[in-house]
Amino acid sequence: MKRRISILGATGSVGSSTLDLVRQDPDNWEIVALTANASVAELAALAREFSAEIAVVGQEHCLDALRDALGDSGIVAAAGAQAVAEAAARPADIIVAAIVGCAGLAPTMRAIEQGSTVALANKEALVSAGAIMTDLVKAHGTTLLPVDSEHNAIFQCLAGAALDDVAVITLTASGGPLREWPAERLRLATPAQAVAHPNWSMGAKISVDSATMMNKGLELIEAAYLFPVGAERLRIIVHPQSVIHSMVEYRDGSTLAQLGPSDMRVPLASCLAWPERMDTTLAPLDLVALGSLTFHAPDEERFPATRLARSALHDGGAAPAVLNAANEVAVAAFLAGQIAFTDICDIVAATLEGAHRLPPPADLGAVLATDAQARAAAGAQVKQRTR
Ligand code: NAD
Ligand code: MG
Repeated sequence: MKRRISILGATGSVGSSTLDLVRQDPDNWEIVALTANASVAELAALAREFSAEIAVVGQEHCLDALRDALGDSGIVAAAGAQAVAEAAARPADIIVAAIVGCAGLAPTMRAIEQGSTVALANKEALVSAGAIMTDLVKAHGTTLLPVDSEHNAIFQCLAGAALDDVAVITLTASGGPLREWPAERLRLATPAQAVAHPNWSMGAKISVDSATMMNKGLELIEAAYLFPVGAERLRIIVHPQSVIHSMVEYRDGSTLAQLGPSDMRVPLASCLAWPERMDTTLAPLDLVALGSLTFHAPDEERFPATRLARSALHDGGAAPAVLNAANEVAVAAFLAGQIAFTDICDIVAATLEGAHRLPPPADLGAVLATDAQARAAAGAQVKQRTR
Protein backbone atom coordinates (compact mmCIF):
# COMPACT_ATOMS: atom_id res chain seq x y z
CA MET A 1 0.00 0.00 0.00
CA LYS A 2 1.39 3.37 -1.02
CA ARG A 3 1.31 6.07 1.63
CA ARG A 4 -0.18 9.41 0.67
CA ILE A 5 1.92 12.46 1.58
CA SER A 6 1.52 16.24 1.22
CA ILE A 7 4.37 18.70 1.65
CA LEU A 8 3.59 22.30 2.57
CA GLY A 9 6.66 24.37 1.72
CA ALA A 10 7.92 21.78 -0.77
CA THR A 11 10.52 24.07 -2.37
CA GLY A 12 12.24 25.01 0.90
CA SER A 13 15.14 23.41 2.69
CA VAL A 14 12.98 21.03 4.78
CA GLY A 15 10.65 20.39 1.82
CA SER A 16 13.60 19.42 -0.39
CA SER A 17 15.04 17.12 2.26
CA THR A 18 11.64 15.42 2.58
CA LEU A 19 11.34 14.93 -1.16
CA ASP A 20 14.86 13.53 -1.19
CA LEU A 21 13.71 10.74 1.13
CA VAL A 22 10.60 10.14 -0.97
CA ARG A 23 12.78 10.00 -4.10
CA GLN A 24 14.76 7.18 -2.51
CA ASP A 25 11.70 4.95 -2.33
CA PRO A 26 9.17 6.25 -4.86
CA ASP A 27 7.12 3.04 -4.95
CA ASN A 28 6.17 3.59 -1.33
CA TRP A 29 4.69 7.07 -1.80
CA GLU A 30 1.88 8.87 -3.54
CA ILE A 31 2.14 12.67 -3.50
CA VAL A 32 -1.09 14.52 -2.83
CA ALA A 33 -0.25 18.24 -2.57
CA LEU A 34 2.95 20.24 -2.98
CA THR A 35 2.92 23.93 -2.09
CA ALA A 36 5.31 26.89 -2.34
CA ASN A 37 5.12 30.64 -2.04
CA ALA A 38 6.28 31.95 -5.43
CA SER A 39 8.91 29.54 -6.85
CA VAL A 40 6.72 28.50 -9.77
CA ALA A 41 9.27 26.74 -11.96
CA GLU A 42 10.71 24.75 -9.08
CA LEU A 43 7.28 23.74 -7.76
CA ALA A 44 6.03 22.71 -11.20
CA ALA A 45 9.15 20.61 -11.80
CA LEU A 46 8.67 18.81 -8.46
CA ALA A 47 4.94 18.31 -9.07
CA ARG A 48 5.74 16.72 -12.46
CA GLU A 49 8.59 14.60 -11.11
CA PHE A 50 6.43 13.18 -8.32
CA SER A 51 3.09 13.21 -10.21
CA ALA A 52 1.41 15.28 -7.51
CA GLU A 53 -2.37 15.61 -7.51
CA ILE A 54 -2.23 19.35 -6.94
CA ALA A 55 0.42 22.11 -6.88
CA VAL A 56 -0.34 25.36 -5.06
CA VAL A 57 1.47 28.68 -4.87
CA GLY A 58 0.77 31.14 -2.06
CA GLN A 59 1.02 34.18 -4.36
CA GLU A 60 -2.16 34.59 -6.40
CA HIS A 61 -0.41 36.47 -9.19
CA CYS A 62 1.65 33.33 -9.89
CA LEU A 63 -1.37 31.23 -10.94
CA ASP A 64 -1.10 31.72 -14.70
CA ALA A 65 2.62 30.99 -14.65
CA LEU A 66 1.99 27.83 -12.62
CA ARG A 67 -0.74 26.68 -15.03
CA ASP A 68 1.63 27.24 -17.97
CA ALA A 69 4.45 25.38 -16.24
CA LEU A 70 2.20 22.39 -15.46
CA GLY A 71 0.92 22.36 -19.05
CA ASP A 72 -1.00 19.20 -19.96
CA SER A 73 0.39 17.19 -17.03
CA GLY A 74 -3.08 16.79 -15.53
CA ILE A 75 -1.83 18.23 -12.22
CA VAL A 76 -4.32 20.69 -10.71
CA ALA A 77 -2.95 24.23 -10.19
CA ALA A 78 -4.18 26.63 -7.52
CA ALA A 79 -3.01 29.87 -5.88
CA GLY A 80 -3.56 32.04 -2.83
CA ALA A 81 -3.35 31.57 0.92
CA GLN A 82 -6.82 30.01 0.99
CA ALA A 83 -5.82 27.48 -1.68
CA VAL A 84 -2.70 26.51 0.30
CA ALA A 85 -4.90 25.88 3.36
CA GLU A 86 -7.37 23.84 1.28
CA ALA A 87 -4.53 21.75 -0.12
CA ALA A 88 -3.41 21.09 3.46
CA ALA A 89 -6.91 19.80 4.25
CA ARG A 90 -6.79 17.12 1.52
CA PRO A 91 -6.81 13.61 2.99
CA ALA A 92 -3.31 12.20 3.30
CA ASP A 93 -1.54 9.72 5.57
CA ILE A 94 1.10 12.28 6.50
CA ILE A 95 1.40 16.01 5.93
CA VAL A 96 4.76 17.72 6.33
CA ALA A 97 4.24 21.29 7.59
CA ALA A 98 7.38 23.05 6.34
CA ILE A 99 6.26 26.57 5.46
CA VAL A 100 8.40 29.18 7.19
CA GLY A 101 6.81 31.64 9.62
CA CYS A 102 3.31 32.35 10.83
CA ALA A 103 2.22 32.15 7.16
CA GLY A 104 2.16 28.40 7.79
CA LEU A 105 -0.23 28.58 10.74
CA ALA A 106 -3.61 28.38 8.97
CA PRO A 107 -2.51 25.55 6.62
CA THR A 108 -0.97 23.63 9.53
CA MET A 109 -4.24 23.94 11.49
CA ARG A 110 -6.16 22.61 8.47
CA ALA A 111 -3.70 19.72 8.19
CA ILE A 112 -4.23 18.90 11.87
CA GLU A 113 -8.03 18.96 11.44
CA GLN A 114 -7.69 16.38 8.73
CA GLY A 115 -6.72 14.00 11.53
CA SER A 116 -3.95 11.69 10.36
CA THR A 117 -0.28 12.48 10.97
CA VAL A 118 1.31 15.92 10.79
CA ALA A 119 5.11 16.19 10.77
CA LEU A 120 5.71 19.69 12.09
CA ALA A 121 8.76 21.70 11.03
CA ASN A 122 6.95 25.06 11.07
CA LYS A 123 7.84 26.00 14.67
CA GLU A 124 6.61 29.60 14.30
CA ALA A 125 3.05 28.27 13.88
CA LEU A 126 3.20 26.34 17.15
CA VAL A 127 4.90 29.21 19.00
CA SER A 128 2.16 31.61 17.86
CA ALA A 129 -0.85 29.37 18.43
CA GLY A 130 0.44 27.29 21.38
CA ALA A 131 -2.35 25.55 23.24
CA ILE A 132 -4.86 26.32 20.45
CA MET A 133 -2.84 24.05 18.19
CA THR A 134 -2.16 21.32 20.75
CA ASP A 135 -5.86 21.32 21.73
CA LEU A 136 -6.78 20.87 18.05
CA VAL A 137 -4.36 17.95 17.85
CA LYS A 138 -6.16 16.30 20.78
CA ALA A 139 -9.63 17.11 19.49
CA HIS A 140 -8.94 15.44 16.13
CA GLY A 141 -6.83 12.56 17.43
CA THR A 142 -4.02 13.69 15.14
CA THR A 143 -0.51 12.33 15.54
CA LEU A 144 1.86 15.31 15.73
CA LEU A 145 5.47 14.34 15.04
CA PRO A 146 8.18 16.96 15.63
CA VAL A 147 10.59 17.45 12.72
CA ASP A 148 12.75 20.07 14.41
CA SER A 149 15.91 18.10 15.18
CA GLU A 150 15.92 18.93 18.92
CA HIS A 151 12.26 18.08 19.41
CA ASN A 152 12.56 15.00 17.29
CA ALA A 153 15.47 13.96 19.51
CA ILE A 154 13.42 14.59 22.66
CA PHE A 155 10.47 12.67 21.18
CA GLN A 156 12.77 9.72 20.49
CA CYS A 157 14.36 9.91 23.98
CA LEU A 158 10.94 10.07 25.63
CA ALA A 159 9.66 7.09 23.65
CA GLY A 160 6.27 7.42 25.31
CA ALA A 161 7.62 7.71 28.90
CA ALA A 162 5.50 9.51 31.51
CA LEU A 163 6.36 13.22 31.65
CA ASP A 164 6.23 12.94 35.47
CA ASP A 165 9.38 10.84 35.29
CA VAL A 166 11.29 13.58 33.46
CA ALA A 167 13.65 15.70 35.57
CA VAL A 168 15.08 17.95 32.84
CA ILE A 169 14.85 18.30 29.07
CA THR A 170 17.98 19.87 27.59
CA LEU A 171 17.87 21.46 24.16
CA THR A 172 21.26 21.67 22.50
CA ALA A 173 22.23 24.72 20.45
CA SER A 174 25.16 25.02 18.05
CA GLY A 175 25.53 28.68 19.03
CA GLY A 176 25.46 29.67 15.35
CA PRO A 177 28.15 31.30 13.20
CA LEU A 178 28.67 34.32 15.48
CA ARG A 179 29.04 32.28 18.67
CA GLU A 180 32.53 33.56 19.44
CA TRP A 181 32.11 37.15 18.30
CA PRO A 182 32.66 39.83 20.96
CA ALA A 183 29.63 41.97 21.81
CA GLU A 184 30.91 45.11 20.08
CA ARG A 185 31.46 43.30 16.79
CA LEU A 186 28.00 41.68 16.70
CA ARG A 187 26.33 44.93 15.71
CA LEU A 188 28.34 44.89 12.48
CA ALA A 189 27.44 41.35 11.43
CA THR A 190 26.18 41.25 7.84
CA PRO A 191 23.38 39.03 6.52
CA ALA A 192 25.96 36.91 4.68
CA GLN A 193 27.90 36.32 7.92
CA ALA A 194 24.73 35.60 9.88
CA VAL A 195 23.39 32.97 7.47
CA ALA A 196 26.72 31.11 7.16
CA HIS A 197 25.80 28.37 9.63
CA PRO A 198 28.74 26.10 10.51
CA ASN A 199 26.79 22.79 10.75
CA TRP A 200 23.37 23.03 9.08
CA SER A 201 22.21 24.14 5.67
CA MET A 202 18.81 25.84 6.12
CA GLY A 203 16.52 28.60 4.85
CA ALA A 204 17.63 32.22 5.40
CA LYS A 205 15.15 33.04 8.20
CA ILE A 206 16.03 30.13 10.47
CA SER A 207 19.73 30.69 9.74
CA VAL A 208 19.49 34.25 11.10
CA ASP A 209 17.47 32.88 14.04
CA SER A 210 20.35 30.50 14.76
CA ALA A 211 22.83 33.37 14.71
CA THR A 212 20.76 35.45 17.19
CA MET A 213 19.86 32.32 19.22
CA MET A 214 16.19 33.22 18.69
CA ASN A 215 15.89 29.82 17.05
CA LYS A 216 16.63 28.28 20.45
CA GLY A 217 14.21 30.71 22.06
CA LEU A 218 11.44 29.65 19.67
CA GLU A 219 12.42 26.03 20.28
CA LEU A 220 12.14 26.49 24.03
CA ILE A 221 8.52 27.61 23.55
CA GLU A 222 7.96 24.83 21.00
CA ALA A 223 9.24 22.31 23.57
CA ALA A 224 7.00 23.74 26.28
CA TYR A 225 3.92 23.02 24.14
CA LEU A 226 5.06 19.66 22.78
CA PHE A 227 6.41 18.29 26.07
CA PRO A 228 4.57 20.08 28.90
CA VAL A 229 6.96 19.31 31.77
CA GLY A 230 6.96 22.91 33.04
CA ALA A 231 9.28 25.69 31.87
CA GLU A 232 11.60 25.23 34.87
CA ARG A 233 12.51 21.78 33.59
CA LEU A 234 13.56 23.03 30.12
CA ARG A 235 17.23 23.95 29.70
CA ILE A 236 19.47 25.11 26.87
CA ILE A 237 23.11 24.14 26.47
CA VAL A 238 25.52 25.21 23.74
CA HIS A 239 27.10 22.27 21.94
CA PRO A 240 28.98 23.59 18.90
CA GLN A 241 29.39 20.24 17.10
CA SER A 242 25.60 19.63 16.77
CA VAL A 243 26.03 15.89 17.26
CA ILE A 244 23.81 15.48 20.31
CA HIS A 245 20.48 16.87 19.16
CA SER A 246 18.91 17.04 22.65
CA MET A 247 18.64 15.06 25.89
CA VAL A 248 16.10 13.87 28.43
CA GLU A 249 17.20 13.36 32.02
CA TYR A 250 14.90 11.15 34.10
CA ARG A 251 14.30 11.42 37.83
CA ASP A 252 16.39 8.30 38.51
CA GLY A 253 19.52 10.01 37.13
CA SER A 254 19.50 8.39 33.67
CA THR A 255 20.01 10.76 30.76
CA LEU A 256 19.07 9.67 27.24
CA ALA A 257 20.42 11.58 24.24
CA GLN A 258 19.84 11.27 20.51
CA LEU A 259 22.90 11.64 18.28
CA GLY A 260 23.17 11.86 14.53
CA PRO A 261 24.65 13.72 11.58
CA SER A 262 23.47 17.34 11.35
CA ASP A 263 21.22 16.64 8.40
CA MET A 264 17.46 17.18 8.54
CA ARG A 265 16.92 13.97 6.61
CA VAL A 266 17.57 12.10 9.87
CA PRO A 267 14.65 13.56 11.88
CA LEU A 268 12.52 13.64 8.74
CA ALA A 269 13.15 9.94 8.13
CA SER A 270 12.17 9.22 11.70
CA CYS A 271 8.85 11.03 11.11
CA LEU A 272 8.17 9.47 7.69
CA ALA A 273 8.72 5.93 8.96
CA TRP A 274 7.39 6.37 12.51
CA PRO A 275 6.80 4.16 14.49
CA GLU A 276 9.10 2.07 12.32
CA ARG A 277 12.49 2.98 10.83
CA MET A 278 13.62 3.45 7.25
CA ASP A 279 16.98 3.37 5.46
CA THR A 280 18.78 6.60 4.61
CA THR A 281 21.88 7.04 2.47
CA LEU A 282 23.58 9.31 5.00
CA ALA A 283 27.11 8.62 6.16
CA PRO A 284 26.92 7.30 9.72
CA LEU A 285 28.35 9.33 12.60
CA ASP A 286 32.08 8.91 12.96
CA LEU A 287 32.70 9.66 16.63
CA VAL A 288 36.39 8.77 16.44
CA ALA A 289 36.91 11.31 13.66
CA LEU A 290 35.02 13.88 15.75
CA GLY A 291 37.23 13.11 18.74
CA SER A 292 35.45 15.27 21.28
CA LEU A 293 32.14 16.90 21.98
CA THR A 294 32.05 20.16 23.94
CA PHE A 295 29.37 21.98 25.92
CA HIS A 296 28.98 25.37 27.57
CA ALA A 297 26.33 27.61 29.07
CA PRO A 298 24.59 30.12 26.75
CA ASP A 299 25.74 33.75 27.02
CA GLU A 300 22.50 35.72 27.33
CA GLU A 301 24.34 39.04 27.50
CA ARG A 302 25.60 38.79 23.93
CA PHE A 303 22.60 36.72 22.79
CA PRO A 304 19.52 37.91 24.74
CA ALA A 305 16.99 36.07 22.52
CA THR A 306 16.62 33.03 24.77
CA ARG A 307 15.96 35.30 27.74
CA LEU A 308 13.24 37.13 25.76
CA ALA A 309 11.66 33.82 24.76
CA ARG A 310 11.73 32.48 28.30
CA SER A 311 10.01 35.62 29.53
CA ALA A 312 7.37 35.41 26.74
CA LEU A 313 6.77 31.78 27.71
CA HIS A 314 6.42 32.82 31.33
CA ASP A 315 3.98 35.63 30.46
CA GLY A 316 2.00 33.28 28.19
CA GLY A 317 -1.18 34.58 26.57
CA ALA A 318 -0.36 36.63 23.49
CA ALA A 319 3.34 37.08 24.33
CA PRO A 320 4.77 34.12 22.34
CA ALA A 321 2.81 35.19 19.22
CA VAL A 322 4.07 38.78 19.65
CA LEU A 323 7.66 37.57 20.12
CA ASN A 324 7.42 35.49 16.96
CA ALA A 325 5.80 38.19 14.81
CA ALA A 326 8.29 40.86 15.92
CA ASN A 327 11.15 38.50 15.20
CA GLU A 328 9.86 37.67 11.71
CA VAL A 329 9.60 41.38 10.87
CA ALA A 330 13.02 42.19 12.35
CA VAL A 331 14.77 39.27 10.61
CA ALA A 332 13.25 40.28 7.25
CA ALA A 333 14.44 43.86 7.80
CA PHE A 334 17.92 42.64 8.73
CA LEU A 335 18.10 40.42 5.64
CA ALA A 336 17.01 43.43 3.54
CA GLY A 337 19.91 45.45 4.96
CA GLN A 338 17.63 47.90 6.79
CA ILE A 339 18.73 47.29 10.37
CA ALA A 340 21.78 46.06 12.26
CA PHE A 341 22.09 42.50 13.57
CA THR A 342 21.69 43.52 17.22
CA ASP A 343 18.58 45.58 16.34
CA ILE A 344 16.72 42.28 15.84
CA CYS A 345 16.53 41.44 19.54
CA ASP A 346 16.10 45.12 20.50
CA ILE A 347 13.02 45.27 18.26
CA VAL A 348 11.63 42.03 19.69
CA ALA A 349 12.17 43.33 23.24
CA ALA A 350 10.52 46.68 22.46
CA THR A 351 7.54 45.00 20.74
CA LEU A 352 7.10 42.61 23.64
CA GLU A 353 6.70 45.46 26.15
CA GLY A 354 3.10 45.42 27.25
CA ALA A 355 2.35 42.15 25.44
CA HIS A 356 1.58 40.49 28.76
CA ARG A 357 -1.42 42.84 29.06
CA LEU A 358 -2.96 41.64 25.77
CA PRO A 359 -5.79 39.11 26.09
CA PRO A 360 -4.73 35.53 25.39
CA PRO A 361 -5.87 34.63 21.86
CA ALA A 362 -8.84 32.27 22.03
CA ASP A 363 -8.82 30.93 18.48
CA LEU A 364 -6.95 30.98 15.18
CA GLY A 365 -8.51 34.31 14.15
CA ALA A 366 -7.35 35.93 17.38
CA VAL A 367 -3.81 34.60 16.93
CA LEU A 368 -3.69 36.00 13.41
CA ALA A 369 -5.00 39.36 14.68
CA THR A 370 -2.32 39.42 17.41
CA ASP A 371 0.28 38.52 14.80
CA ALA A 372 -0.86 41.38 12.52
CA GLN A 373 -0.82 43.93 15.35
CA ALA A 374 2.63 42.87 16.51
CA ARG A 375 3.91 43.05 12.93
CA ALA A 376 2.68 46.64 12.66
CA ALA A 377 4.31 47.56 15.98
CA ALA A 378 7.58 45.88 15.01
CA GLY A 379 7.43 47.58 11.60
CA ALA A 380 7.32 50.95 13.36
CA GLN A 381 10.37 49.90 15.40
CA VAL A 382 12.18 48.99 12.18
CA LYS A 383 11.42 52.44 10.72
CA GLN A 384 12.95 54.14 13.78
CA ARG A 385 16.14 52.16 13.34
CA THR A 386 16.44 52.06 9.55
CA ARG A 387 19.89 53.10 8.49
P1 NAD B 1 12.79 27.83 3.52
O1 NAD B 1 12.78 29.30 3.47
O2 NAD B 1 13.92 27.09 2.91
O3 NAD B 1 11.43 27.27 2.87
C1 NAD B 1 10.18 27.77 3.22
C2 NAD B 1 9.10 27.18 2.34
O4 NAD B 1 7.87 27.85 2.68
C3 NAD B 1 9.29 27.39 0.85
O5 NAD B 1 8.74 26.31 0.14
C4 NAD B 1 8.49 28.66 0.58
O6 NAD B 1 8.07 28.74 -0.78
C5 NAD B 1 7.32 28.46 1.51
N1 NAD B 1 6.71 29.73 1.92
C6 NAD B 1 7.34 30.82 2.43
N2 NAD B 1 6.46 31.80 2.67
C7 NAD B 1 5.24 31.33 2.32
C8 NAD B 1 3.94 31.88 2.31
N3 NAD B 1 3.70 33.14 2.72
N4 NAD B 1 2.90 31.10 1.87
C9 NAD B 1 3.13 29.84 1.47
N5 NAD B 1 4.34 29.27 1.43
C10 NAD B 1 5.39 30.00 1.86
O7 NAD B 1 12.62 27.43 5.06
P2 NAD B 1 13.15 26.10 5.79
O8 NAD B 1 14.52 26.33 6.27
O9 NAD B 1 12.83 24.89 4.97
O10 NAD B 1 12.23 26.12 7.09
C11 NAD B 1 10.86 25.75 7.05
C12 NAD B 1 10.34 25.61 8.47
O11 NAD B 1 11.03 24.53 9.10
C13 NAD B 1 10.62 26.84 9.35
O12 NAD B 1 9.56 27.01 10.25
C14 NAD B 1 11.89 26.47 10.10
O13 NAD B 1 11.99 27.10 11.35
C15 NAD B 1 11.68 24.97 10.28
N6 NAD B 1 12.93 24.21 10.44
C16 NAD B 1 13.83 24.22 9.44
C17 NAD B 1 15.03 23.50 9.57
C18 NAD B 1 16.05 23.48 8.46
O14 NAD B 1 17.03 22.76 8.58
N7 NAD B 1 15.87 24.21 7.38
C19 NAD B 1 15.28 22.80 10.75
C20 NAD B 1 14.32 22.82 11.75
C21 NAD B 1 13.13 23.51 11.59
MG1 MG C 1 16.10 22.95 15.61
